[in-house]
Amino acid sequence: LSLVRRPAPAPRRAVGALPLTVGAELGVPTVHRTVVDFGNLDHAATTPALTAVAEAVSTVQRRYGSVHRGAGYTSRLTTDWFEQARTEVGAFVGARPDDEVVFTRNTTDSLRLLAHALPQDAEVIVFESAHHAALLPWPAEATLRLPVPTSALDAQSLLERALREGPAGKPRLVVVTGACNVTGDIWPVAELAAIARRHGARTVLDAAQLAPHRPVDIDALGIDWVALSGHKMYAPYGAGALVGRSDWLEAAAPYLPAGGATHTVSHRHTRWQQGPARHEGGTPNAVGAIALASACASLSAHRDAVEAHEAELLAALREGLAAVPGVRVHHVLGPAADGVGVATFTVEGYEPSLVSQVLADEYGLAVRDGRFCAHLLCETLFDGDGTAVRASIGLATTREHVERLVRGVRGLVEHGP
Ligand code: PLP
Repeated sequence: LSLVRRPAPAPRRAVGALPLTVGAELGVPTVHRTVVDFGNLDHAATTPALTAVAEAVSTVQRRYGSVHRGAGYTSRLTTDWFEQARTEVGAFVGARPDDEVVFTRNTTDSLRLLAHALPQDAEVIVFESAHHAALLPWPAEATLRLPVPTSALDAQSLLERALREGPAGKPRLVVVTGACNVTGDIWPVAELAAIARRHGARTVLDAAQLAPHRPVDIDALGIDWVALSGHKMYAPYGAGALVGRSDWLEAAAPYLPAGGATHTVSHRHTRWQQGPARHEGGTPNAVGAIALASACASLSAHRDAVEAHEAELLAALREGLAAVPGVRVHHVLGPAADGVGVATFTVEGYEPSLVSQVLADEYGLAVRDGRFCAHLLCETLFDGDGTAVRASIGLATTREHVERLVRGVRGLVEHGP
């Protein structure tokens, strides 16, 4: 707390003390909650750790030793945990036997790693609606940006045309978003991957927003790689993964040329590791990897309960907001598109920054406003300065938070700030 320069203002309405965990009664994994119930409607940015994850971290923190570098007991134990985590993260996304699971810092880092491993003559196709982490890491001269589509079908025909008209002889990579971080819309991943395959192109899925909410299976979706972030799925910051085909990764120079990535170093020659170690130079974030695996295990084990909890809250959120005069809930693939727990909205006559400030200060609710690291998409979707308010639900969100948010927005519209 001493690091917080300006304490957040206390909510004006008493919201009372609530239990420290949520979700137990639903049979879903529990997360830590603060004693005063500041409502968390900002899961699309970062999620709080599940209690199972916090316990795993605490266990590991008390015992860990160096990974792949020591003969001592703690070192061997940590190495086993770390490799077990790799297997579990792979299983979470349905990795095939030949797929590689490379631990990274987050989705940004995973996609950057794949960009680093692109064959020299490769072409990349990406929609302008992508998060900057998926839009920007590719070489500009070899990247074709497709316009923001208006529907799932439009996305498919844009891709079909681009692949048909593009250079068929070259290696090609299509970058697909699983769920839009701005609107929550779920993209037709399997359909886009099938189109890519038909044209001999590969697909990488940005699953940062999809993996916390829906199953992701490499084989079922027909994709080649998937990138995800632990901190968006109830694990801590600094741990993510790139999972998928090994050939481009094995052919690439090490991402972090350092200890751990080396097999042998002589005066004349360095021989690099094969397998994930090739791109995991330096001492790995073993605690983060184990925490990520723990989150994967919890989410897989409770998938139905998580989805039911979110579906109920999302419907209440979207319907509640849509019923407030002057409020517009936005979509990129059309209102009929299936979506994960996000409602992004604008309120006629009010700057989004003011709306989120009122919700935070007056109602104790965390939402986000801005352009959400997707400037090109926001420019297309929102009038004015291209910003909006994003409310995103997850396991730390309760029905009361959703009702409080709708009440807050209605109060603003009816009575002013
Ligand atoms: N992709 C999407 C769809 C996201 O929402 C985000 C983060 O908001 C990212 C990628 C980048 O994730 P990270 O910041 O964990 O690297």
